[in-house]
Amino acid sequence: MKIKNLVVLLSICMLFSCTAQKVQNPSLNIIPLPEKVSFTGGEFCLNEETFLQLAIAKEDVGSVMLLHTMVSEIAGYDLIMGSGFPTMIKFTLDTTLKLGSEEAYQLKITPQEIIISAGESVGLFYGVQTLGQMLTDPQFYDAESKSWRLPTVEITDKPSFSYRGLHLDVSRHFYSKEFVMKCLDIMAEYKLNKFHWHLTDAAGWRIEIKKYPELTERAAWRSEKDCMTWWKGDRKYATAETEGAYGGFYTQEEIREVVAYAAQRHITVIPEIEMPGHSEEVVSIYPHLGCYGEPYRNGEFCIGNEETFEFVENVLTEVMELFPSEFIHIGGDEASKAAWRKCAKCQRRIKREKLKDEEELQSYMISRVGKFLESKGRKLLGWDEILEGGLAKAATVMSWRGEAGGIKSAKMGHDVIMTPGSHCYFDSYQADPKTQPLAIGGFLPYLKVYSYHPVPAELNTEEAKHILGAQANLWTEYVPTAVHAEYMLFPRLLSLAEVVWTPREQKDAEDFKRRIAHHIEILKNKGVNVFTLSDRVDMLMEVDTINKQVKVVLESEKYQPEIRYTLDGSVPSSSSMIYKDTICMTDSASVSAALFVKDRSSETVSTERFDYHKGIGKKVNYTHMYSGSYPAAGMTTLTDGYRGGLTYGDGRWQGFLKHLDIVIDMEEVLDINSVSVKFMQLTGPGVYMPKYVSVSISENGDDFQEMGQIKNTIPNNKPDLFLKDFKISFKKTGRYIRVFAAKQSGFMFVDEVVIY
Ligand SMILES: [Zn+2]
Repeated sequence: MKIKNLVVLLSICMLFSCTAQKVQNPSLNIIPLPEKVSFTGGEFCLNEETFLQLAIAKEDVGSVMLLHTMVSEIAGYDLIMGSGFPTMIKFTLDTTLKLGSEEAYQLKITPQEIIISAGESVGLFYGVQTLGQMLTDPQFYDAESKSWRLPTVEITDKPSFSYRGLHLDVSRHFYSKEFVMKCLDIMAEYKLNKFHWHLTDAAGWRIEIKKYPELTERAAWRSEKDCMTWWKGDRKYATAETEGAYGGFYTQEEIREVVAYAAQRHITVIPEIEMPGHSEEVVSIYPHLGCYGEPYRNGEFCIGNEETFEFVENVLTEVMELFPSEFIHIGGDEASKAAWRKCAKCQRRIKREKLKDEEELQSYMISRVGKFLESKGRKLLGWDEILEGGLAKAATVMSWRGEAGGIKSAKMGHDVIMTPGSHCYFDSYQADPKTQPLAIGGFLPYLKVYSYHPVPAELNTEEAKHILGAQANLWTEYVPTAVHAEYMLFPRLLSLAEVVWTPREQKDAEDFKRRIAHHIEILKNKGVNVFTLSDRVDMLMEVDTINKQVKVVLESEKYQPEIRYTLDGSVPSSSSMIYKDTICMTDSASVSAALFVKDRSSETVSTERFDYHKGIGKKVNYTHMYSGSYPAAGMTTLTDGYRGGLTYGDGRWQGFLKHLDIVIDMEEVLDINSVSVKFMQLTGPGVYMPKYVSVSISENGDDFQEMGQIKNTIPNNKPDLFLKDFKISFKKTGRYIRVFAAKQSGFMFVDEVVIY
């Protein structure tokens, strides 16, 4: 087949076409949301009689054949190849087409044809993904005529960021090549293009290196499957033959297969080889590469030893043969400097190279490895610790300890990939921990991922250009199986996909909720163990001091669910009120709410108390000021009506390192019936209940009369989270209310003084 170069025509023709109809603008369920979508009011029909006409340049046969297979699979028909029929679906690859990005594409559906145009084959590929998502949307499938009736539309699309990544840690727990490929398939559907493969770490070396076979013979296995049990235990490595051995590695052949599979899907695989820290497994096999010369002592390479560089360069040489990626990730994170301080060789290196300290010693190693990579035409990528002791020339930084490292690097003119723990660490909980399998901690629901924007406001336009994109990281200490990994990845990875693709101003959380509901079903149908979202009803409040009321909004991360609620603290039933709009309360009430599906309540019932009390907006005088670290809303916090949640860092809880001793001025003498103050206890981080709370009243602000005292009854030797209301009831007229809480230990946290 000899065809004009660079023009790819893949035509799907139909023997029988459906009658064109006018359709209303539908809601497309595409993730990530394309840049521009405009409906033209007609319909294109695709059915079983459809077949293909394929005309392509020789070098693109592979990629177009893949597209053909994909379209066939998606449409659910085996599209037959043919020629001589009028073109119905046309893929045009035209290098003169300027769409603003090599990844850009146009998808035009008219009643007669579907045309996908792009300047590069990657753009064509993404156009097919978009079409593919339309062809998995049941709203466009007409079961009666067994055809897809697609709305006529013009889509112009390109990514906001060039780096759209997923990181997978295969050291803590090992996952098969097949699972990695499944991840690559899903990444491609959502237009993610970088797979960061965390191949080496203390918990196991996972890549075959021909020159050092001992790495996979003796450090790819351990006798304990569960990573944390192993880590808390002897941390010893094993061989594949050891009884009960857990682990594994990828042969070079398997890696080549994965890299090629990814490349077909326009995904670059970036390998990570950890150094100088997180290398316990290497030092255990080759103790002379560590400062102590002993196995199982520490996880850092000896930077004073030339053999370290020989080893690293030999390994990287084989790695570069396997991975064509320009970026090679060298880790660089969390190295302890203790051994270097005591090591004669390291200290000699510091002296000889005129380095200031161990941080500069680390920087010496990173720079030297960076130069080695550059000499081979590659670029060094590392976690933000590579900033310590001076950032190596031309290094690209992955900012994980927040955004600060990324901001600093971008201002220095280095490229940056944002992966802050707050929004990109998918080993955190995605819902209430009580309802979830054990995770590392944190709280990162999919909508929080969605709210992320990789370019911090601190950067100017020039600096912002250094932010290449963002990446989701899945560390796997608590993720023992591939099925569990899927649960942690989905649907949150779809949020990240939209964060890095869709223009920020196009993002819309409510619309994303709608689309995610659709995609959760799609993923389920594909056999992906996707988290089907939290059943919890969240309650957001606003204090309206003008109308003297508390407004409560009930929210769910599900799309337009049925929420029923009560205001008397009783459990909502199928006959309870349906939530439609903001609930306004002028007094106090306990709101209980739950999601309902077909009259059935979810198991999770949320209950919260809201008060519009007499003290709201009244001035608080502090004898001892609150802690500067936890000011919450400052001087107004304790009488602003806002109650704290389950974490003391939520901006509602005010922290005290001294006794709480405050006087609230009610502005006039009035009847006071009760005063209650809520405290939190969480002994882990040092948050304790007070010893006791006392309330006194005065008319003139000088002579106070104590109304009562409540002693604490919560034990201080339990690690659990406790919340306790200290409520004192009485009948008294007065203008000034003094609240005193005697400090027990550490911090005291108070959210509100509720006065009736
Ligand atoms: Zn050393």
